[in-house]
Amino acid sequence: MHEISLCQSALEIIERYARENRARRVTAVWLEIGALSCIEADALSFSFDIVCRDTLAEGCRLHISTIPARAWCWDCSSAISVERHDAGCPNCGSRNLRVDGGDDMQIKQIEIE
Ligand SMILES: [Zn+2]
Repeated sequence: MHEISLCQSALEIIERYARENRARRVTAVWLEIGALSCIEADALSFSFDIVCRDTLAEGCRLHISTIPARAWCWDCSSAISVERHDAGCPNCGSRNLRVDGGDDMQIKQIEIE
């Protein structure tokens, strides 16, 4: 599953951060997933629980938010945000778009104690 490997790399970053800050445990993690990433929040949270077992992050709260992708519409020359792969420009309906990002996952915040 795609989400498992994403969670494993996220966990590496989280654990490194926790160790560097001499944390006893990780209490919460905020993740942002791009609207075009094809990552399912449910699958992500399920996978996260699995990879966090027996780590500093075991049992931490996971907050997931989806952020829209930014794009440029060539037809009406404006910067727009895109929520879905098959969506056109919200202004003119064009699909002649250059999309920047929105297809990845980022750690936004880590809470430790
Ligand atoms: Zn447009």
